[in-house]
Amino acid sequence: MPELPEVEITVRGLARVLEGRRIASVEARRPDLRRPLPPNLGQCLTGVRVTGLRRRAKYGLVDTDRGDTLVFHLGMSGHWRIDSTEIGKHDHFLISTDEGRRIALNDARRFGSLDLVRTDQLGEWPQFGVLGPEPFGLDPRELKRRQVGRSAAIKPLLLDQRIVAGLGNIYACEALYRARIDPRRAGGSVSLEAFKRLVQAIEAVLDEAISAGGSTLRDFASPDGELGYFTKTFAVYDREGEPCACGGTVKRIVQGGRSTFYCPRCQR
Ligand SMILES: [Zn+2]
Repeated sequence: MPELPEVEITVRGLARVLEGRRIASVEARRPDLRRPLPPNLGQCLTGVRVTGLRRRAKYGLVDTDRGDTLVFHLGMSGHWRIDSTEIGKHDHFLISTDEGRRIALNDARRFGSLDLVRTDQLGEWPQFGVLGPEPFGLDPRELKRRQVGRSAAIKPLLLDQRIVAGLGNIYACEALYRARIDPRRAGGSVSLEAFKRLVQAIEAVLDEAISAGGSTLRDFASPDGELGYFTKTFAVYDREGEPCACGGTVKRIVQGGRSTFYCPRCQR
């Protein structure tokens, strides 16, 4: 499943093809993904110039000079293909540029989405209205203030999009490990010092993954190249039963229906 670093790398890769370019044509090859595509997508995007690309949580945003922003979510399996030689079975949405480049949103499981939102109304768009701050530049005091009195465990709290937007299960596990915080600890009992470590750890694990993905952008122009997926190594995620550097053993528990991986010896 694409996490924030994959979305960030996807946005950077798409920017190389789209930024400053005019959209020559778009083609919706089916009427829906997770939800129906906007019916006026072709009318609103054909002929526009792309003014910029950016990311919000796990959404990619393509801003245009007509005041509309194309917002995409990759769902479980979505990815953009760049200049593929053939149109694939799961290439559901195509964009061609004035330079003759073509990108295709491929999504076999169709949990992704495409929406067109007025750029100046993005803040009120229902999916964005509920989102908390990005996981970069978090204020540890604000995090601490919001957890005061909370008995819920810190790990599921980190997955609450209203508290931190776009962090995701893998990086919540990795950041708690790096900050040496027990994922079962009540949010309200985490000290300010621990929140400071956590904020640094969140940025570090995401930055490292984005750097790892950045190296894959070299190949993004290759035919049928899939943008945004890359291999990463994790300290605890998906490593149940494996040794931790401290000599302990990585354990898996389920919290809020999601697997948590942690080291009971060095996370307190
Ligand atoms: Zn350990």
